[in-house]
Amino acid sequence: MSTDSDGGGFFDDEGADDAETADDTETADESATDIDQQETTRQTEPTGSREVLTAEGLRVSYGQVTALRGIDLHVEENEIVGLIGPNGAGKTTFANTVSGFIDYDGSASYRGQEVADVGQTELVEQGMIHCTEERDLFGFMSVEENLKLGAYRRAEDVIEERLDFVYDLFPRLVERRTQNARTMSGGEQQMLAIGRALMGDPDLLILDEPTIGLAPVILEDISDGIEQIMEEDPITILLTEQNVTFAFKHADRMYLLENGEVELQGTPDELRGDDYIRESYLGG
Ligand code: ATP
Repeated sequence: MSTDSDGGGFFDDEGADDAETADDTETADESATDIDQQETTRQTEPTGSREVLTAEGLRVSYGQVTALRGIDLHVEENEIVGLIGPNGAGKTTFANTVSGFIDYDGSASYRGQEVADVGQTELVEQGMIHCTEERDLFGFMSVEENLKLGAYRRAEDVIEERLDFVYDLFPRLVERRTQNARTMSGGEQQMLAIGRALMGDPDLLILDEPTIGLAPVILEDISDGIEQIMEEDPITILLTEQNVTFAFKHADRMYLLENGEVELQGTPDELRGDDYIRESYLGG
């Protein structure tokens, strides 16, 4: 969960001082076992539906704290869906729940299969790749080693193809391919985390607050990368964001989450026309 208290927008680049610590690396080791589970062949079973992700009446509580209060949301094939909202709205909880990390009531399904029945490892094998807010990089490994871990189970020639794709998307990573991840700036680390997720050739990419703490110049690179992916090889993306401007720029449809509930939904154009969104999120 983010500890940023700013209501969104652009932040200063975190700098190398904020790079991952050895402790973070342990966390990364644990989460990477999930990535390790990717199969060379996707096992997604087509359901005939364009719905990739569906939540119905999704509820999550942490003890006494109810974080999601009955969310209805869907993401269709090759859509970018933005889930926006302030600190504590439940965005990360939603991302973690649909990825199979958190128990829930109601329903969350990926391509027609209940997430709880499929399980986290199998979801990754089926192409649901979650780039978490924490990034989960291996701090003492190089950029290229981190990237290759994103495609761990793939054939060498496929890995090279994916590497070319990611380096083409994010040229900053090429210059730093031998640099340890922990010595990169916060923005470069974010780029690397997204690059690593893309190495797994996602069917559904979940980007949890990718712009948090990033300088405008890096934001621009990530924006360009998303646009290039959608032009060249479209995928389905769930984008959770406090940075409403960034979400507006990329999303086909958006949901506004507040206090664990969907308050508004619509296309960016529809939401831009909403007085509440304009006043509370777009600065009037
Ligand atoms: P942010 O943008 O700050 O990351 P968010 O929209 O992602 O916020 P969540 O992190 O999902 O929101 O938090 C939703 C609510 O659930 C908050 O009230 C938070 O305090 C609570 N919460 C989240 N994780 C836990 C946890 N592990 N234990 C207890 N409460 C939690």
